[in-house]
Amino acid sequence: MRTHTPLPSLLLLGSLTLTAACTSATANSSGTPTTGARAGSSPSAVRTVDPSKIKGLRIVNDNSEQSSCPFAASYPDVPGAQAMTAAMKKYVEGLLDGFRESACADGSDSTAGRELNISHQFLVASGDVLGVRLTTQDQTSASDGRSTRTYWYDGKAGAYRTPLGLIADGSRDAFADALKAELKGREGVDEADLNATFSDPGFLASSLGDVSFAADGALRVEFGRGVVGAVAAGSYLVTVPAATVTPWLSAFGKRAQQQTMAPSTSLDLGAASTPTPAVLTHTASGDDDTDCKKVKCMALTFDDGPAAPETATLLTYLAQYNARATFFTVGQNVAAHPELVRAEARAGHEVGNHSWNHPDLTKLTPEQIASQLDRTSAAIKAATGKAPTLFRPPYGAVNSTVRAATSMSPVLWTVDTEDWKYPDATKVAQTVITKAGRNDVVLMHDIHPTSVAAVPEILRTLTARGYHFVTVSHLRATL
Ligand code: ZN
Repeated sequence: MRTHTPLPSLLLLGSLTLTAACTSATANSSGTPTTGARAGSSPSAVRTVDPSKIKGLRIVNDNSEQSSCPFAASYPDVPGAQAMTAAMKKYVEGLLDGFRESACADGSDSTAGRELNISHQFLVASGDVLGVRLTTQDQTSASDGRSTRTYWYDGKAGAYRTPLGLIADGSRDAFADALKAELKGREGVDEADLNATFSDPGFLASSLGDVSFAADGALRVEFGRGVVGAVAAGSYLVTVPAATVTPWLSAFGKRAQQQTMAPSTSLDLGAASTPTPAVLTHTASGDDDTDCKKVKCMALTFDDGPAAPETATLLTYLAQYNARATFFTVGQNVAAHPELVRAEARAGHEVGNHSWNHPDLTKLTPEQIASQLDRTSAAIKAATGKAPTLFRPPYGAVNSTVRAATSMSPVLWTVDTEDWKYPDATKVAQTVITKAGRNDVVLMHDIHPTSVAAVPEILRTLTARGYHFVTVSHLRATL
């Protein structure tokens, strides 16, 4: 049973149970482009968390697949941290609602170049401390609109903590003075403006959006574009060494610092219950020998997952009809649910690459494109033992730069169900049944329960009409 509050416009995904939350140190864990950060001293290494070790983790996803209205949002829902999940939900849904209204409404022509992307990254998932960073890119042709926020949960107190909650009440003045001293003299920072900004007693509470710890215990503070300096100068990263900042930390801040530096083997936020993982046991019986020259074939494709429990349910339906499909998976979801990707491959389905966090690849540099695709392929290979040979560009957006950045072959589609827009299983089923024909590649999304619910009707009806459901690579190879 789900233990969370139902979300009206976002889809709650995911369930699994494993044992521990463990981390490893790395200097660069973000799959998203970094822009404009001004390091005050040599950057301290940050740690990455393996989300597949977080018991009962759900990833909430809401994506479009339409190039004229490109948005993709995700955030984690960890059992026990409901208050923090609610804070992320409020932030994400507010941005999504605004984007849909201004950029995606019928007749709107304001979409040119605009794209909204909200991705997540775990900072700490250890002991009674959970820390998550959301990275937002509200991109226009003029700016990437990047901003970041960190969210903290104190399992011991059962309380959501803002970034300023890492600092003890009595030490906030000293902390502010240290930040100010670090920022003085930076390019784009005017000292008079800085003094005026920090003289506002509410400044830290309202403007401290991104605070985290480095692997050595130093505190990292990122100020967004225009918060403490010129807008054109971008964001500012301030690092306060562990020896300086530790006396200023709140009791929770000290635990967050400790759990970053020396993570324990598990996360326990005191959740009353965690979802039970689906048991997936179906194994394909050998290679598919369907000859698409002789029989009617169709390739169903499912993007944006894996998602639990939806993907597991879908695998059960596909197995009932001996149908094979292709899953274009998103890397940050593969990292959360590698067992589902493994189950896809074991059941004879094809696993493809759909980028790490669903950006329009045509707006990225070649290095960023390669990072998006390579990081996802590595996660797929870690889960299945096999690197993908196909990728589907988010929003179907592909150009020569994207093609040149990878050896994988791009796959678009011939029938679009628009299932992300219409959460209606009957409508989705009817669209496939009436529009799809021989050798079509059908676009669907397994993050939507309504899309998964449409699949039995699709398979029942079209199997009766003589269709065979094959993977994209099988369809291509036999035509
Ligand atoms: Zn997609």
